[in-house]
Amino acid sequence: MPCQSSEELKELVEEAKKHTPNGRVASYIPALGKANPNDLSIAIYYPDGRCISAGNVEQEITLQSISKVISLALALKDRGPDCVFKRVGMEPTGDPFNSIAKLETMAPAKPLNPMINAGALVVTHMIKGDSVEERFERLLSFIREMANDPSIGYSEEVARSEFETANLNRALCYFLKEHRVINENVEQLMDLYTKQCAIEMNCLALARIGLVIGMDGVDPQTGEQVLPKDIARICKTFMVTCGMYNASGEFAIKIGIPAKSGVSGGIMGAVPGRFGIGIFGPALDERGNSIAGIKLLEMLSNNYKLSMF
Ligand code: GLU
Repeated sequence: MPCQSSEELKELVEEAKKHTPNGRVASYIPALGKANPNDLSIAIYYPDGRCISAGNVEQEITLQSISKVISLALALKDRGPDCVFKRVGMEPTGDPFNSIAKLETMAPAKPLNPMINAGALVVTHMIKGDSVEERFERLLSFIREMANDPSIGYSEEVARSEFETANLNRALCYFLKEHRVINENVEQLMDLYTKQCAIEMNCLALARIGLVIGMDGVDPQTGEQVLPKDIARICKTFMVTCGMYNASGEFAIKIGIPAKSGVSGGIMGAVPGRFGIGIFGPALDERGNSIAGIKLLEMLSNNYKLSMF
């Protein structure tokens, strides 16, 4: 079913767009710096298959940190919660996503949660498979299944751009390896992690994955449980406590839905039992969230009483 463009959403997008001049496109991954800071688009996917949108929802964006929710789901399926949470914690940090500070003061050196880079690298390390290719294919198939879109792939340009410049993430990996939290070749893990972050899709697919997570892991159109209910619950909880970087507390108070953002300007929302949301707005605020995307979600939450609290 094609996505219907919505006048109501269009008005909210125009209003939220006024904030894009106050944000900046991420450029520490050089290829992301090419994005147009004025872009803003949204898609909302309902359980009955209806979809409404505003803006250029066909545009493909890389998932970046949004992929951390899905790699966590796959690692939990692969290894089970006991094994995963032996290596990565469940607590928010209040630090920036790429901070190394807490790792050094924790004993043992276990990353605080799977939504910060250190934790996400440990999670990606735990995805099963005999090679990077096999592990990446498994992650990709899982994502395609949730999005119901077999055409989803990744941006080689963005993956390469991050691989060539990811000194801080390499530093995190070496630290984790020194402390035996991971035991994999660092270049190999960086190859997998940068491809994972460069997985590319449009807002419709993003909204559909949000919908499946919000429906407790059930694909509402096929009735199939693509994600075990318990894993969907864990993902939603991390999205609430750590999904919006060190703005997660404020986001929970002002908007109140499970959501995950990425430095490409994407936000995936999972409104429990109601709908999935995919947003793209590459101009970021100082904490790394889409500045206009947050404003848009704030208006949506107020207008449609979305807060779960
Ligand atoms: N690939 C990015 C990194 O590791 C993801 C960061 C993000 O979206 O927060 O730096």
